[in-house]
Amino acid sequence: MTVPYAEALQEFEPVIGLETHVELGTASKMFCGCDTTFGADPNTHTCPVCLGLPGALPVVNEKAIESTIRIGLALHCDIATWCRFARKNYFYPDMPKNFQTSQYDEPLCTDGYLDVEVSNADGTLETVRVPIERVHLEEDTGKTLHVGGATGRIHGASHSLVDYNRAGIPLVEIVTKPVVGTKHRPAEVAKAYVAELRDVLRGLGVSDVKMEQGSLRCDVNVSLNKPGDDWGTRSETKNVNSLRSVERAVRSEVERQAARLRQGERIVQETRHFHEDTGLSTSGRSKEEATDYRYFPEPDLVPVAPDTDWVAELKAALPEAPSVRRRRLIEQLALSALDAEAMTNAGVLDLVLATVDAGAPAAEARNWWLGHLAQTANSSGVEPAELSITPAQVARVVGLVAGGSLTAGLARQVVDGVLAGEGEPEAVVATRGLAVVSDEGALATAVDEAIAADADAADKIRAGKVQAVGALVGRVMKATRGQADASVVRRLLLERLGVTE
Ligand code: ADP
Ligand code: MG
Ligand code: ZN
Repeated sequence: MTVPYAEALQEFEPVIGLETHVELGTASKMFCGCDTTFGADPNTHTCPVCLGLPGALPVVNEKAIESTIRIGLALHCDIATWCRFARKNYFYPDMPKNFQTSQYDEPLCTDGYLDVEVSNADGTLETVRVPIERVHLEEDTGKTLHVGGATGRIHGASHSLVDYNRAGIPLVEIVTKPVVGTKHRPAEVAKAYVAELRDVLRGLGVSDVKMEQGSLRCDVNVSLNKPGDDWGTRSETKNVNSLRSVERAVRSEVERQAARLRQGERIVQETRHFHEDTGLSTSGRSKEEATDYRYFPEPDLVPVAPDTDWVAELKAALPEAPSVRRRRLIEQLALSALDAEAMTNAGVLDLVLATVDAGAPAAEARNWWLGHLAQTANSSGVEPAELSITPAQVARVVGLVAGGSLTAGLARQVVDGVLAGEGEPEAVVATRGLAVVSDEGALATAVDEAIAADADAADKIRAGKVQAVGALVGRVMKATRGQADASVVRRLLLERLGVTE
């Protein structure tokens, strides 16, 4: 039983909370020198420290501290002048030390915010401020592989294998405060927040932020309450691994909880597992009784006391925030509010701006991304940003058209070639043989054939009806598979028919 999203949100007020884990892109692990490269043979990137062998002593990775502070600064947080790591004690086979080195009541960054834009029903954009509770640093766990079961789950498996390569990779956790006032669109705010956060992190260069590889993953908390009541009990959907899933996870939880509340049932505080295939989640571990992790300050590490001058330097050197950059470019390009909104809603604004940055005129960049590329993305069910063409490549195609070596029709074929993985635009032009034919000798035959094939049109043109030349140009273009330069063809046809304009 569920209540439709829109209906549920007329009856109940939603509160959401997002916990985002980001794997930092440091060269070495958080507390040892092990390599962090993804995809190595199992257990080849390990040492006594990240395997938790007795007597091994950790040392903090300075670059990870720096990255975390930069994230905190980009999210307008206060940076601690002194803080400690803590041991979070629990047993799980993928955690060789039997505790996770994390931060507890002394996080490195606290009390920030991130502004995100969501669109209203009429397409206009509205800014929602998402408050940030904390940004702290911890270490990732290893990975368990259950063998012999049907779906890789532990049920039915004959045995399990553990790979500790990921154990000890620096992991930053960014936790929002409860986000209230998202009204009729908590799912949209959640998705916009994760998308904006991903852009911020990418801009900082601290992580490759690949949701599909798990270097950025989200836990999504949702609760509902009747207007005027206290907040409801939240559920927590774990490890949501795509933007679309973030939105669907909130949506399905709102629909599920509303149905329960309507029937007078209570919401159980629990973790839930999101299923990519159905867009629904199922009940996981109950959180009604808080687990006692017996946190205590990590005795093997000295406190972290970032120098205030260093923090000020990091702050001064932050890159421009994606939202600020967007606003600046919108202004520079004199995009109308309508255009900017259309591009935002289609998920192509940043792509258009990047294409302009790479040298294309704004109008061309806009036409490609709102036109052919948006359609291609749409028909293959991916976000435009996920297409396998970069803004720089689009800009180069635009350049080839401007320079006269491609026609509009050919440009489209070149873009399709790049999308199909045939290489750089120039390579596609070469291998598909798509260069514009403007060599007049090569066109002469096609021009003569067109005149012979449509004597009617030829006569009209000779008699002074120059508009009729369009039909003949069309024939030549067809005969040359779109590779002729239409203006050259037109001139040649008119010359041949003895007409001067
Ligand atoms: P836990 O360790 O149980 O996951 P955290 O404090 O790390 O707890 O994260 C809880 C998340 O849930 C935070 O983002 C918080 O803002 C959010 N949250 C807290 N209360 C509610 C609520 N009533 N409804 C929705 N989200 C909530
Ligand atoms: Mg949590
Ligand atoms: Zn190690």
